[in-house]
Amino acid sequence: MSQLAIVVHYHELWLKGGNRRFFISKLVSNLRSGLEGIPVEKIEQPNDRVIIRLKEAASLEEALRRVERTSGIAYYAVARPVEREINALCDAAWQEIEPCAFATFAVRAKRSDKSFPHSSSETEKLVGKHLLDSLNAAGRSARVKLNDPDVTCHIEITSGPALVYAHKVPGAGGLPANTAGKMTCLLSGGFDSAVAAYHMMKRGAHLSFVHFYGSGARPGESSIHVARGLVRQLVPWQFTAKLYRVPFEEIQREIVRYAPEPCRVLLYRRMMLRIAEAFARRNRALALVTGDSLGQVASQTLRNMVSVEAAAKMPVFRPLAGTDKLEIIEAARKIGTHDISAEPFHDCCPVFLPRSPSLHANAADLEAAESGLDVAGLVRQGVEGATLETYRYVAGQVEMSESPRKFKQNAAIA
Ligand code: ATP
Ligand code: MG
Repeated sequence: MSQLAIVVHYHELWLKGGNRRFFISKLVSNLRSGLEGIPVEKIEQPNDRVIIRLKEAASLEEALRRVERTSGIAYYAVARPVEREINALCDAAWQEIEPCAFATFAVRAKRSDKSFPHSSSETEKLVGKHLLDSLNAAGRSARVKLNDPDVTCHIEITSGPALVYAHKVPGAGGLPANTAGKMTCLLSGGFDSAVAAYHMMKRGAHLSFVHFYGSGARPGESSIHVARGLVRQLVPWQFTAKLYRVPFEEIQREIVRYAPEPCRVLLYRRMMLRIAEAFARRNRALALVTGDSLGQVASQTLRNMVSVEAAAKMPVFRPLAGTDKLEIIEAARKIGTHDISAEPFHDCCPVFLPRSPSLHANAADLEAAESGLDVAGLVRQGVEGATLETYRYVAGQVEMSESPRKFKQNAAIA
């Protein structure tokens, strides 16, 4: 019996009362989509877990890579399929735990198919006794401890072959993808906004991305390749994504020309929020996401963040507000965006950087600073200058298509 299975235990979903079924069915359909192209025999849902039975031709390594990128999973394990007979279960349990070093262990059996003749507790006792005998015979000392043992050998009796496993691996956590509604993320090329995006996707939000770019020091050089790379890396978590690319240098020049120098960067940010919001509305997103972290740079003092946000009508979520740079970098490594963000690129924001930026601007100051600008006109210029790329994650690969669509900004809602 060589057909392997992956047992998936979900996260917090059981807390969701009446919505529990919705979350579980979304998790299962996300697993199904995520595993596309891998030969899967069936996906079962006995009680509070999901069992993915792979066909023999399936690559376990590839299947695990996909499962690892599925949010809503507390932990998973590769299980041995075993004949539904007590001696076979005993042998498999011993094979599972023999290589492990431990002082205490437990056997946990779950029987969702009652045609198996032994109850769960009988199975636990019989297999536990066999393991103790085998340990003794091998000259090893270990004892049974039901509460918090070093090793737990799990046995699942469902309708197919029984499953035995003892090695649980932590999953991505969070909630199943695309269960929380839509948000629009301002994605720079840096470390922070990609990690911020991941945090919201992990909680079930579906994001569209807006990237503002300058022309670069040399022709053809900008930050677009980095933004693209980041979206490619992030899209498997939510299956589809739009990336709006907005040329920003002309808008920055207008700000530099007509607004006081110390608040330039804050005005760039306010303009970015307004333009992103126009795309958010198009996508029926309810909120914006940024990678701001409190106090990290001059534009991220508490007062400046509040004054920048005042330009947006939608709520702005900042999942990294309370996070240190080192924690962000570590998260970026974990989700695979670190090396992409570390690539050299031309960031539009430091262009025309003020010599002494405002640290504590209030919203009224910024509004006054914008009085010489045609704000609605600049938002329109940003929206109408944008181009769209659409990403899809299919059968383990990310596909991108560029849309020839041009956008018209409704002056009334600018
Ligand atoms: P990041 O590492 O994400 O660039 P940061 O710490 O460098 O963040 P800033 O450059 O001040 O901080 O940007 C703050 C936030 O503003 C970013 O996290 C991002 O959400 C948004 N932002 C900044 N620049 C851009 C850009 N060029 N395109 C889209 N969003 C941007
Ligand atoms: Mg940045």
